[in-house]
Amino acid sequence: MKISSKEYQRFSKQIILKKIGVVGQQKLKSAKVLVLGMGGLGCPLSIYLASLGIGTIGIVDDDKVELSNLNRQIIYNVNDIGKYKVDVAKNKIKLINKNTIIKSHKIRLNINNIEKLIKNFDIICDGTDNFKTRLLVNDHSLKHKKILISAAVSGFDGHIFKFNFKKKTPCYRCFLPEIPEQDNNCEAEGVIPTITGIMGTLQANEVVNSILNFNSKMEKKMIIFNSIKMNFRTINLSKNKNCSNKCLK
Ligand SMILES: [Zn+2]
Repeated sequence: MKISSKEYQRFSKQIILKKIGVVGQQKLKSAKVLVLGMGGLGCPLSIYLASLGIGTIGIVDDDKVELSNLNRQIIYNVNDIGKYKVDVAKNKIKLINKNTIIKSHKIRLNINNIEKLIKNFDIICDGTDNFKTRLLVNDHSLKHKKILISAAVSGFDGHIFKFNFKKKTPCYRCFLPEIPEQDNNCEAEGVIPTITGIMGTLQANEVVNSILNFNSKMEKKMIIFNSIKMNFRTINLSKNKNCSNKCLK
């Protein structure tokens, strides 16, 4: 995909990086990235994706903006309360980068619509807030051989993991075979706003790594960040031969 002279100027600070260059910028422009959930993770994630020049961004959410969202969902402000998140987000992302193609979906992700939603995207970024949806996204990303970059936050902790289902790899269900009774989401337990910004930004960072084939060493790993201790821990995600997805066969 061609880069115009205006785009060259706009992205010049990243194009001058030897590892990116014009060719890398063209890859970013050609990429199609789906953002599931326009909450605390989806906001910084989609802002960065648009700012750095991802050509096509899909956004999915059926919620409206509430006052209690504003401490961390940084795309919205008080004038947006009561409006659909995807409508507000689409307009604001367009203001950041009018060349970005935004495909907005005002729907709740479920087993009946997921196939159609993820089909046309290369990379799926999960920022939804419950285990049931996360497993659904995992199972279908695996089935359709997508790259899945998933993050979650709770309290002062955030975690992120990536699976490249174009290769043989364990999946999220290997790690979490059944849906736990208690969801570790911010609705139930509260969350420090900055952790959502950090984890959403790490997702955007890993999107870039994936598109440009940088060796980030994130595959088959989960990284956990604690905002008080300010430390990252890495956990290796190993295969589970009892995984119901039979992801390694
Ligand atoms: Zn598995």
